Amino acid sequence: MQTPKIVILGAGYGGLITSRQLEKTLKNGEAEITLINKHDYHYISTQLHKTGAGTAPDEKITLHIPELLKTDKIRFKKGTVEDVNFTAKKVKLESGEFIDYDYLMIGLGFDVSTFGIPGVEENAFKIKSFRSTKAIHNHLLRQFAAYKEDHDSSRLTFAVAGAGFTGIEMIGELIEAMPKLCRKYGIPVSDTRIINIEASETVLPGFDQEAINFTAGYLSKNGVELMTSTKILECSPTSITLDNGEELPSRTLIWSGGVRGNTLLEKLNLPISKGRIMIDKFLRVKGMDNVFCIGDAALFMKNDGNPLPPTAQVAIQQAEVCGPNLVAIVRGQQLKAFEYHHKGTVASIGNKAAVGKVFGLKISGLFAALMKQVIEARYLFVLGGPGLVIKQLFKVGKPHTELAVSKQK
Ligand code: FAD
Ligand code: NAD
Repeated sequence: MQTPKIVILGAGYGGLITSRQLEKTLKNGEAEITLINKHDYHYISTQLHKTGAGTAPDEKITLHIPELLKTDKIRFKKGTVEDVNFTAKKVKLESGEFIDYDYLMIGLGFDVSTFGIPGVEENAFKIKSFRSTKAIHNHLLRQFAAYKEDHDSSRLTFAVAGAGFTGIEMIGELIEAMPKLCRKYGIPVSDTRIINIEASETVLPGFDQEAINFTAGYLSKNGVELMTSTKILECSPTSITLDNGEELPSRTLIWSGGVRGNTLLEKLNLPISKGRIMIDKFLRVKGMDNVFCIGDAALFMKNDGNPLPPTAQVAIQQAEVCGPNLVAIVRGQQLKAFEYHHKGTVASIGNKAAVGKVFGLKISGLFAALMKQVIEARYLFVLGGPGLVIKQLFKVGKPHTELAVSKQK
C-alpha cells in the first residue's frame, strides 16, 4: 500500500499547530506530510498591528517556518495555492506545480472585508499579513518625512476605521508610536492627529460596558479623536468621506472594518457561507470525507445556531483536534468531535494597557496588558516549547533574506 499523503494549506495558527500535532504523533513513514505556505515565514497575526505602527521588530512578529518543523517528518513547500481539484486530489500552485494529496487540511485564514466601499480597496491600508502591515509602517515614515517639507496636515492625520478589537489594538500602537516618530523627525506631537471612526455607537461593540468605558476613556486621555456612530462612505488618496457630511483630509486610512474568509475559498466550489467554508463537528468540509478546514477559513456552527468567531483561540483549539483527527483517519480510527472552550478575550491598547475578560474575570489596565503578554507567550510555547518563548523574548535570531528584502520596501 502507498504511504498516505497529507497536505496542509497555510502556515497560520491552524496550519502550524496541526503540523506540530502530526509530527508529534505520526511515526516516520506512516504518512507523507507537506505544509504549503505563501512565504517561508509564519507571521503572528495577533501582533500585526505592532508591525503596522513599527512598535515591534520584524523578528518578533515573524518566525522562519522550517525552523519550527521537524523536517524529517514534514516537508515545507513555499508556494501560493491557486486552486484545488477535489476529484483528482491535487492542489495547484501559482507556479503551475501540482501537489497530490489523500487528505487535505485547508487553513488559509482571513481576508479583510471592505464591503465594496468606494476607494477603500485601492487607497486604505489593511491589517492582513506581515507585508500589508509593513506597508503601513513604511507609509507612516514617508508621511513624516514629507511633512517636514510641505507641512500638509493631512499627512499627519492618521485614521483607523473600526473600533472592534483590531481597530482598538491598532489605535493603541499608534498612541505608543507617535512620540517616537515625532522625536525622530523633529516634529511636535501636537502636529499629529489619531482618529478612530466607528459606525456603531460605542467602541468594542457588544463587549462589556466597563471595557467600553475604560477603552473610550483611555483613548480620550491619550488625545485620540473618537468618532462613534460615524460611517466611512468613501476613501480617496487624500481624504475620507464620512456619513455626517464631513470630508476628512487624511492620507492614511487603516481599514479594520471586519474580516471574512480568504477570498480564494470562493473559487473552490465548496459549501460556503459568509466567505467561510462550512464544516462538520469533526472539522471536515461538509459532505467531504478527506478534506478538513479550520481557523478563519472555516465556519463552525455552535449548537445555539451562531458561528464561532474568527479568532486565533478558535484556530488553535481546532488544530489541536484536527491533527489527531488526521492521524485517526490515516490509521482507520474514530474521529473526535470538536468542542470549543472559550477562555476569554483580551485586547491590548498599546503596551501598557488592555481590556478583557479571562475565565469570566473582567480585567483592564496594566494587569490586563501583562495578561495579554502571557497569552501571546503561551502560543509560542504551544508552537515551540520554552525554547521558542525565550528566543522570542530576547530577540535572539537573525532576520532571514526574504524579510530583509521586504524591510527595505
Ligand atoms: P492565518 O493566521 O490568517 O494564517 C493563514 C496562512 O495562510 C498565512 O500564513 C498565509 O500567508 C497563508 N496563505 C494565505 N493565502 C495563501 C495562499 N493562497 N497560498 C498559500 N498560503 C496562503 N485572535 C485571538 O484569538 N486573539 C487575539 O488577540 C487576536 N488578535 C488579533 C490582532 C490582529 C491585528 C488581527 C488582524 C487578528 C487578531 N486575532 C486574534 C485573530 C487571529 O489573528 C486569527 O483568527 C488567526 O490568525 C486565524 O488563524 P488561521 O490559521 O486560520 O489563519
Ligand atoms: P470586527 O468585525 O469585530 O470589527 C469591525 C468594526 O468596524 C465594527 O465595529 C464595525 O462597526 C466597524 N465598521 C465596519 N464598517 C465601517 C464603516 N464603513 N465605517 C466605520 N466603521 C465601520 O472586526 P475586527 O476588529 O477586525 O475583528 C475580527 C476578528 O478578529 C474578531 O473575531 C475579533 O474578535 C478577532 N480579534 C481579536 C482580538 C483579540 O482577541 N485581542 C484582536 C483583534 C481581532
